[in-house]
Amino acid sequence: MKAAEQYVQLCGRVGNLSRSLTGVSIVDAYFGPPSLAPEKQAERTEPESILQDIGSLIDIVKGSIRNELRREYLLGEIGSLQTVVEWLSGADISYGQLVKRLFSIDMKAYPESVIDQQMQRVSEAFAVFPGADVRDRVDRFMTTGELRGEPLRYLIEGELQDKVSEVGRLFKERVFSKIGGRIRDNGVRYKAVTDKPWGGYNYYLGGFKSMNEFNVDHPMNREVSLSVIYHEYEHHVNNLCRERAYLKNRYAELSVVPLHTGRSVISEGTADSAKEFLGIADESPTATAMEVLSTLRRMVSINAAIMMNDRGLGIEDVAPYIAERGLRTADSAKATTDFFKPKTDDGRVNIWAPYVFTYHVGKTDFVMPTFDKAVERGLLADFFKVLYLNPFSGSSVTWNIAFDWL
Ligand SMILES: [Zn+2]
Repeated sequence: MKAAEQYVQLCGRVGNLSRSLTGVSIVDAYFGPPSLAPEKQAERTEPESILQDIGSLIDIVKGSIRNELRREYLLGEIGSLQTVVEWLSGADISYGQLVKRLFSIDMKAYPESVIDQQMQRVSEAFAVFPGADVRDRVDRFMTTGELRGEPLRYLIEGELQDKVSEVGRLFKERVFSKIGGRIRDNGVRYKAVTDKPWGGYNYYLGGFKSMNEFNVDHPMNREVSLSVIYHEYEHHVNNLCRERAYLKNRYAELSVVPLHTGRSVISEGTADSAKEFLGIADESPTATAMEVLSTLRRMVSINAAIMMNDRGLGIEDVAPYIAERGLRTADSAKATTDFFKPKTDDGRVNIWAPYVFTYHVGKTDFVMPTFDKAVERGLLADFFKVLYLNPFSGSSVTWNIAFDWL
Protein backbone atom coordinates (compact mmCIF):
# COMPACT_ATOMS: atom_id res chain seq x y z
CA MET A 1 0.00 0.00 0.00
CA LYS A 2 1.23 3.46 -0.88
CA ALA A 3 2.24 6.11 1.67
CA ALA A 4 -0.89 8.21 1.02
CA GLU A 5 -3.26 5.28 1.63
CA GLN A 6 -1.38 4.31 4.78
CA TYR A 7 -1.74 7.89 5.94
CA VAL A 8 -5.52 7.80 5.43
CA GLN A 9 -5.72 4.62 7.51
CA LEU A 10 -3.55 6.21 10.18
CA CYS A 11 -5.93 9.18 10.43
CA GLY A 12 -8.80 6.73 10.94
CA ARG A 13 -6.92 4.86 13.67
CA VAL A 14 -5.95 8.05 15.51
CA GLY A 15 -9.53 9.28 15.08
CA ASN A 16 -10.88 6.10 16.67
CA LEU A 17 -8.35 6.39 19.49
CA SER A 18 -9.25 10.02 20.16
CA ARG A 19 -12.96 9.19 20.09
CA SER A 20 -12.51 6.42 22.64
CA LEU A 21 -10.39 8.60 24.95
CA THR A 22 -12.09 12.00 24.59
CA GLY A 23 -15.43 11.44 22.86
CA VAL A 24 -14.27 13.35 19.75
CA SER A 25 -12.69 11.89 16.62
CA ILE A 26 -9.91 14.01 15.13
CA VAL A 27 -11.22 13.03 11.69
CA ASP A 28 -13.49 15.94 10.78
CA ALA A 29 -14.53 14.76 7.31
CA TYR A 30 -13.85 11.86 4.96
CA PHE A 31 -14.78 11.43 1.30
CA GLY A 32 -12.23 8.88 0.11
CA PRO A 33 -12.48 5.22 -0.90
CA PRO A 34 -14.85 3.23 1.37
CA SER A 35 -12.16 0.59 1.96
CA LEU A 36 -9.96 3.15 3.74
CA ALA A 37 -12.75 4.83 5.73
CA PRO A 38 -12.14 5.55 9.44
CA GLU A 39 -14.94 3.16 10.46
CA LYS A 40 -13.10 0.34 8.66
CA GLN A 41 -10.06 0.85 10.90
CA ALA A 42 -9.55 -0.94 14.20
CA GLU A 43 -11.94 0.47 16.80
CA ARG A 44 -9.24 0.62 19.43
CA THR A 45 -5.53 0.19 18.75
CA GLU A 46 -2.83 0.37 21.38
CA PRO A 47 -1.06 3.75 21.18
CA GLU A 48 2.34 1.99 21.08
CA SER A 49 1.44 0.13 17.92
CA ILE A 50 0.15 3.33 16.25
CA LEU A 51 3.36 5.14 17.19
CA GLN A 52 5.45 2.34 15.74
CA ASP A 53 3.53 2.49 12.45
CA ILE A 54 3.92 6.27 12.40
CA GLY A 55 7.70 5.81 12.59
CA SER A 56 7.78 3.55 9.55
CA LEU A 57 5.31 5.71 7.61
CA ILE A 58 7.59 8.74 8.07
CA ASP A 59 10.43 6.76 6.42
CA ILE A 60 8.18 5.66 3.55
CA VAL A 61 7.01 9.23 2.91
CA LYS A 62 10.57 10.56 2.98
CA GLY A 63 11.73 7.88 0.57
CA SER A 64 8.81 7.80 -1.87
CA ILE A 65 7.25 11.26 -2.29
CA ARG A 66 9.23 13.50 -4.65
CA ASN A 67 7.00 16.59 -4.72
CA GLU A 68 8.47 18.76 -1.96
CA LEU A 69 5.28 20.54 -0.93
CA ARG A 70 3.30 17.30 -0.82
CA ARG A 71 6.02 15.52 1.16
CA GLU A 72 6.49 18.32 3.72
CA TYR A 73 2.72 18.64 4.08
CA LEU A 74 2.34 14.95 4.83
CA LEU A 75 5.31 14.84 7.19
CA GLY A 76 3.85 17.82 9.07
CA GLU A 77 0.42 16.18 9.37
CA ILE A 78 1.93 12.87 10.49
CA GLY A 79 4.04 14.68 13.12
CA SER A 80 0.88 16.29 14.51
CA LEU A 81 -0.93 12.93 14.62
CA GLN A 82 2.03 11.47 16.49
CA THR A 83 1.72 14.29 19.04
CA VAL A 84 -2.03 13.66 19.39
CA VAL A 85 -1.37 9.99 20.19
CA GLU A 86 1.40 10.79 22.69
CA TRP A 87 -0.65 13.51 24.37
CA LEU A 88 -3.80 11.40 24.69
CA SER A 89 -1.88 8.42 26.01
CA GLY A 90 -0.57 10.52 28.88
CA ALA A 91 2.94 11.61 27.78
CA ASP A 92 4.35 14.54 29.73
CA ILE A 93 3.99 17.37 27.22
CA SER A 94 3.68 21.00 28.36
CA TYR A 95 0.88 23.10 26.85
CA GLY A 96 3.43 25.23 24.99
CA GLN A 97 5.06 22.14 23.49
CA LEU A 98 1.66 20.75 22.59
CA VAL A 99 0.71 23.90 20.66
CA LYS A 100 4.12 23.94 18.97
CA ARG A 101 4.09 20.28 17.99
CA LEU A 102 0.47 20.12 16.85
CA PHE A 103 0.30 23.40 14.97
CA SER A 104 3.92 24.50 14.35
CA ILE A 105 3.20 27.83 16.01
CA ASP A 106 4.34 29.37 19.29
CA MET A 107 2.18 29.64 22.38
CA LYS A 108 2.21 33.39 22.85
CA ALA A 109 0.03 35.42 25.19
CA TYR A 110 -1.15 38.86 24.09
CA PRO A 111 0.30 41.59 26.34
CA GLU A 112 -2.41 43.41 28.28
CA SER A 113 -1.37 46.61 26.48
CA VAL A 114 -2.39 45.01 23.15
CA ILE A 115 -5.71 43.96 24.68
CA ASP A 116 -6.13 47.57 25.89
CA GLN A 117 -5.64 48.87 22.35
CA GLN A 118 -8.22 46.44 20.98
CA MET A 119 -10.58 47.36 23.82
CA GLN A 120 -10.21 51.00 22.71
CA ARG A 121 -11.27 50.01 19.16
CA VAL A 122 -14.29 48.20 20.58
CA SER A 123 -15.14 51.21 22.66
CA GLU A 124 -15.05 53.48 19.59
CA ALA A 125 -17.04 51.06 17.42
CA PHE A 126 -19.76 50.69 20.04
CA ALA A 127 -20.02 54.41 20.79
CA VAL A 128 -22.96 54.71 18.35
CA PHE A 129 -25.04 52.14 20.24
CA PRO A 130 -27.14 52.94 23.32
CA GLY A 131 -25.74 52.30 26.79
CA ALA A 132 -23.93 53.90 29.73
CA ASP A 133 -20.43 52.59 28.91
CA VAL A 134 -18.80 50.09 26.57
CA ARG A 135 -19.72 47.05 28.68
CA ASP A 136 -23.34 48.15 28.94
CA ARG A 137 -23.43 48.82 25.18
CA VAL A 138 -22.05 45.39 24.31
CA ASP A 139 -24.47 43.69 26.75
CA ARG A 140 -27.47 45.51 25.30
CA PHE A 141 -26.34 44.89 21.74
CA MET A 142 -26.06 41.14 22.43
CA THR A 143 -29.35 40.73 24.29
CA THR A 144 -31.34 42.88 21.85
CA GLY A 145 -30.51 40.63 18.92
CA GLU A 146 -30.96 37.39 20.84
CA LEU A 147 -33.43 34.89 19.40
CA ARG A 148 -34.79 31.57 20.70
CA GLY A 149 -37.40 28.99 19.78
CA GLU A 150 -39.42 29.43 16.59
CA PRO A 151 -37.93 32.81 15.55
CA LEU A 152 -34.47 31.26 15.92
CA ARG A 153 -35.48 28.29 13.78
CA TYR A 154 -36.73 30.72 11.15
CA LEU A 155 -33.50 32.73 11.32
CA ILE A 156 -31.46 29.60 10.61
CA GLU A 157 -33.54 27.87 7.99
CA GLY A 158 -34.88 31.05 6.35
CA GLU A 159 -32.69 34.10 6.68
CA LEU A 160 -29.30 32.40 7.10
CA GLN A 161 -30.07 29.92 4.33
CA ASP A 162 -30.78 32.82 1.95
CA LYS A 163 -27.71 34.72 3.02
CA VAL A 164 -25.54 31.64 2.52
CA SER A 165 -26.64 31.38 -1.12
CA GLU A 166 -25.59 34.98 -1.56
CA VAL A 167 -22.16 34.28 -0.03
CA GLY A 168 -21.81 31.29 -2.37
CA ARG A 169 -22.53 33.57 -5.32
CA LEU A 170 -19.87 36.02 -4.09
CA PHE A 171 -17.27 33.24 -3.93
CA LYS A 172 -18.14 32.29 -7.50
CA GLU A 173 -17.87 35.87 -8.76
CA ARG A 174 -14.91 37.10 -6.80
CA VAL A 175 -12.73 34.04 -6.12
CA PHE A 176 -13.55 31.10 -8.42
CA SER A 177 -13.61 33.39 -11.46
CA LYS A 178 -10.00 34.36 -10.75
CA ILE A 179 -8.88 30.74 -10.39
CA GLY A 180 -10.00 29.69 -13.84
CA GLY A 181 -10.83 26.00 -13.33
CA ARG A 182 -14.50 25.26 -12.66
CA ILE A 183 -15.20 24.62 -8.98
CA ARG A 184 -18.27 22.49 -8.34
CA ASP A 185 -20.33 23.75 -5.44
CA ASN A 186 -23.52 22.02 -4.34
CA GLY A 187 -23.98 24.47 -1.47
CA VAL A 188 -24.43 24.48 2.27
CA ARG A 189 -27.66 23.49 3.96
CA TYR A 190 -28.61 25.17 7.24
CA LYS A 191 -30.58 23.11 9.70
CA ALA A 192 -32.01 23.76 13.18
CA VAL A 193 -31.58 20.83 15.59
CA THR A 194 -32.19 20.19 19.30
CA ASP A 195 -30.67 18.04 22.06
CA LYS A 196 -27.01 18.46 21.07
CA PRO A 197 -24.05 19.12 23.34
CA TRP A 198 -22.78 21.97 21.08
CA GLY A 199 -24.18 25.26 19.77
CA GLY A 200 -23.38 24.70 16.12
CA TYR A 201 -21.50 22.32 13.89
CA ASN A 202 -20.30 22.39 10.31
CA TYR A 203 -20.13 19.07 8.46
CA TYR A 204 -18.56 18.60 5.07
CA LEU A 205 -20.53 15.74 3.56
CA GLY A 206 -18.48 15.06 0.42
CA GLY A 207 -20.10 15.28 -3.01
CA PHE A 208 -19.35 19.05 -2.89
CA LYS A 209 -21.88 19.87 -0.17
CA SER A 210 -21.92 20.78 3.52
CA MET A 211 -24.46 20.85 6.30
CA ASN A 212 -24.45 23.44 9.09
CA GLU A 213 -26.45 22.40 12.11
CA PHE A 214 -27.42 24.82 14.88
CA ASN A 215 -28.74 23.83 18.25
CA VAL A 216 -31.88 25.89 18.88
CA ASP A 217 -31.95 24.94 22.57
CA HIS A 218 -29.42 27.79 23.05
CA PRO A 219 -30.35 31.38 22.22
CA MET A 220 -28.39 32.93 19.36
CA ASN A 221 -27.63 36.51 18.45
CA ARG A 222 -28.81 37.41 14.97
CA GLU A 223 -25.86 39.66 14.10
CA VAL A 224 -23.31 37.16 15.40
CA SER A 225 -24.79 34.35 13.34
CA LEU A 226 -24.93 36.49 10.19
CA SER A 227 -21.27 37.36 10.62
CA VAL A 228 -20.08 33.75 11.10
CA ILE A 229 -21.60 32.70 7.77
CA TYR A 230 -18.53 33.92 5.90
CA HIS A 231 -16.23 31.88 8.14
CA GLU A 232 -18.27 28.71 7.71
CA TYR A 233 -18.64 29.16 3.96
CA GLU A 234 -14.89 29.46 3.50
CA HIS A 235 -14.48 26.11 5.29
CA HIS A 236 -16.94 24.70 2.77
CA VAL A 237 -14.98 26.20 -0.16
CA ASN A 238 -11.74 24.82 1.21
CA ASN A 239 -13.24 21.35 1.35
CA LEU A 240 -14.72 21.68 -2.17
CA CYS A 241 -11.24 22.40 -3.48
CA ARG A 242 -9.75 19.57 -1.46
CA GLU A 243 -12.28 17.11 -2.85
CA ARG A 244 -11.71 18.47 -6.34
CA ALA A 245 -7.92 17.99 -6.06
CA TYR A 246 -8.42 14.51 -4.62
CA LEU A 247 -10.65 13.41 -7.51
CA LYS A 248 -8.44 15.07 -10.12
CA ASN A 249 -5.05 13.79 -8.96
CA ARG A 250 -6.03 10.78 -6.84
CA TYR A 251 -4.03 12.05 -3.89
CA ALA A 252 -5.68 9.83 -1.27
CA GLU A 253 -4.40 11.92 1.64
CA LEU A 254 -6.63 14.82 0.57
CA SER A 255 -9.76 12.75 1.10
CA VAL A 256 -9.42 12.91 4.88
CA VAL A 257 -9.67 16.10 6.94
CA PRO A 258 -7.96 15.73 10.30
CA LEU A 259 -8.25 18.26 13.13
CA HIS A 260 -5.28 19.37 15.25
CA THR A 261 -2.61 19.56 12.56
CA GLY A 262 -0.84 22.34 10.66
CA ARG A 263 -3.84 22.27 8.31
CA SER A 264 -6.11 23.61 11.06
CA VAL A 265 -4.06 26.81 11.44
CA ILE A 266 -4.41 27.79 7.80
CA SER A 267 -7.96 26.52 7.55
CA GLU A 268 -9.19 28.67 10.48
CA GLY A 269 -6.98 31.53 9.30
CA THR A 270 -8.48 31.55 5.78
CA ALA A 271 -12.00 31.12 7.20
CA ASP A 272 -11.46 34.18 9.41
CA SER A 273 -10.19 36.08 6.33
CA ALA A 274 -13.20 35.25 4.13
CA LYS A 275 -14.58 38.79 4.14
CA GLU A 276 -11.21 40.15 3.04
CA PHE A 277 -11.00 37.50 0.28
CA LEU A 278 -14.41 38.58 -0.98
CA GLY A 279 -13.52 42.25 -0.76
CA ILE A 280 -16.48 42.99 1.47
CA ALA A 281 -15.93 46.44 2.81
CA ASP A 282 -18.95 46.40 5.06
CA GLU A 283 -18.52 49.63 6.96
CA SER A 284 -21.89 49.47 8.69
CA PRO A 285 -21.60 50.26 12.42
CA THR A 286 -22.93 46.80 13.25
CA ALA A 287 -20.41 44.97 11.04
CA THR A 288 -17.49 47.01 12.37
CA ALA A 289 -18.62 46.46 15.95
CA MET A 290 -18.89 42.68 15.40
CA GLU A 291 -15.47 42.56 13.80
CA VAL A 292 -13.52 44.39 16.50
CA LEU A 293 -15.36 42.64 19.31
CA SER A 294 -14.68 39.22 17.81
CA THR A 295 -10.95 40.03 17.47
CA LEU A 296 -10.85 41.17 21.11
CA ARG A 297 -12.52 37.96 22.22
CA ARG A 298 -10.19 35.73 20.16
CA MET A 299 -7.20 37.37 21.91
CA VAL A 300 -8.73 37.15 25.36
CA SER A 301 -9.57 33.46 24.81
CA ILE A 302 -5.94 32.73 23.92
CA ASN A 303 -4.73 34.44 27.11
CA ALA A 304 -7.35 32.61 29.17
CA ALA A 305 -6.39 29.26 27.60
CA ILE A 306 -2.74 29.86 28.60
CA MET A 307 -3.84 30.78 32.14
CA MET A 308 -5.76 27.52 32.48
CA ASN A 309 -3.55 25.06 30.63
CA ASP A 310 -0.06 26.44 31.16
CA ARG A 311 -0.38 28.18 34.51
CA GLY A 312 -2.93 25.77 35.93
CA LEU A 313 -5.49 28.39 37.04
CA GLY A 314 -9.09 27.26 37.62
CA ILE A 315 -12.33 28.49 36.09
CA GLU A 316 -13.01 30.61 39.19
CA ASP A 317 -9.88 32.68 38.41
CA VAL A 318 -10.08 32.66 34.63
CA ALA A 319 -13.80 33.38 34.06
CA PRO A 320 -13.61 36.84 35.73
CA TYR A 321 -10.67 37.71 33.45
CA ILE A 322 -12.66 36.69 30.36
CA ALA A 323 -15.70 38.60 31.58
CA GLU A 324 -13.70 41.76 32.23
CA ARG A 325 -11.36 41.79 29.23
CA GLY A 326 -13.67 40.10 26.70
CA LEU A 327 -16.68 42.17 27.76
CA ARG A 328 -18.77 39.09 28.46
CA THR A 329 -21.38 38.34 31.09
CA ALA A 330 -20.33 36.01 33.92
CA ASP A 331 -22.33 33.13 32.39
CA SER A 332 -20.97 33.59 28.91
CA ALA A 333 -17.39 33.90 30.27
CA LYS A 334 -17.78 30.61 32.08
CA ALA A 335 -19.27 28.93 29.01
CA THR A 336 -16.31 30.14 26.93
CA THR A 337 -13.90 28.08 29.03
CA ASP A 338 -15.69 24.87 27.96
CA PHE A 339 -13.83 25.11 24.67
CA PHE A 340 -10.28 25.28 26.06
CA LYS A 341 -10.33 24.00 29.63
CA PRO A 342 -7.83 21.11 30.06
CA LYS A 343 -10.41 18.51 31.13
CA THR A 344 -14.06 18.01 30.30
CA ASP A 345 -16.62 17.68 33.11
CA ASP A 346 -16.39 13.88 33.01
CA GLY A 347 -12.64 14.10 33.71
CA ARG A 348 -11.38 13.21 30.23
CA VAL A 349 -8.82 15.20 28.25
CA ASN A 350 -10.54 18.08 26.44
CA ILE A 351 -9.40 17.52 22.86
CA TRP A 352 -10.15 21.17 21.98
CA ALA A 353 -7.86 22.63 24.68
CA PRO A 354 -5.04 23.72 22.30
CA TYR A 355 -7.26 24.55 19.28
CA VAL A 356 -8.04 28.15 20.31
CA PHE A 357 -4.70 29.32 18.86
CA THR A 358 -5.49 28.39 15.29
CA TYR A 359 -7.92 31.22 14.43
CA HIS A 360 -6.19 34.47 15.24
CA VAL A 361 -2.62 33.23 14.70
CA GLY A 362 -3.60 31.61 11.39
CA LYS A 363 -5.09 34.86 10.18
CA THR A 364 -2.55 37.38 11.45
CA ASP A 365 0.72 35.41 11.19
CA PHE A 366 0.08 33.45 7.97
CA VAL A 367 -2.90 34.26 5.78
CA MET A 368 -3.29 38.04 5.90
CA PRO A 369 0.39 39.04 5.47
CA THR A 370 0.55 36.86 2.33
CA PHE A 371 -2.84 38.02 1.07
CA ASP A 372 -1.90 41.69 1.58
CA LYS A 373 1.33 41.19 -0.37
CA ALA A 374 -0.61 39.54 -3.21
CA VAL A 375 -3.07 42.44 -3.36
CA GLU A 376 -0.25 44.99 -3.28
CA ARG A 377 1.55 43.33 -6.20
CA GLY A 378 -1.58 42.64 -8.23
CA LEU A 379 -1.15 38.87 -7.85
CA LEU A 380 -4.43 38.01 -6.19
CA ALA A 381 -5.39 35.44 -8.85
CA ASP A 382 -2.10 33.60 -8.29
CA PHE A 383 -2.67 33.71 -4.55
CA PHE A 384 -6.09 32.07 -4.90
CA LYS A 385 -4.75 29.49 -7.36
CA VAL A 386 -2.08 28.32 -4.92
CA LEU A 387 -4.44 28.41 -1.95
CA TYR A 388 -7.39 26.64 -3.55
CA LEU A 389 -5.95 24.53 -6.38
CA ASN A 390 -3.01 23.17 -4.40
CA PRO A 391 -4.30 22.06 -0.99
CA PHE A 392 -0.74 21.13 0.05
CA SER A 393 -0.16 24.86 0.54
CA GLY A 394 -2.76 24.85 3.33
CA SER A 395 -0.65 24.00 6.36
CA SER A 396 1.43 26.11 8.74
CA VAL A 397 4.31 23.76 7.80
CA THR A 398 4.15 24.43 4.05
CA TRP A 399 2.56 27.89 3.79
CA ASN A 400 5.83 29.84 3.52
CA ILE A 401 7.29 27.36 1.01
CA ALA A 402 4.15 27.52 -1.14
CA PHE A 403 4.16 31.33 -1.20
CA ASP A 404 7.92 31.95 -1.37
CA TRP A 405 7.40 33.54 -4.83
CA LEU A 406 5.53 36.46 -3.29
ZN1 LIG B 1 -13.77 27.34 11.79
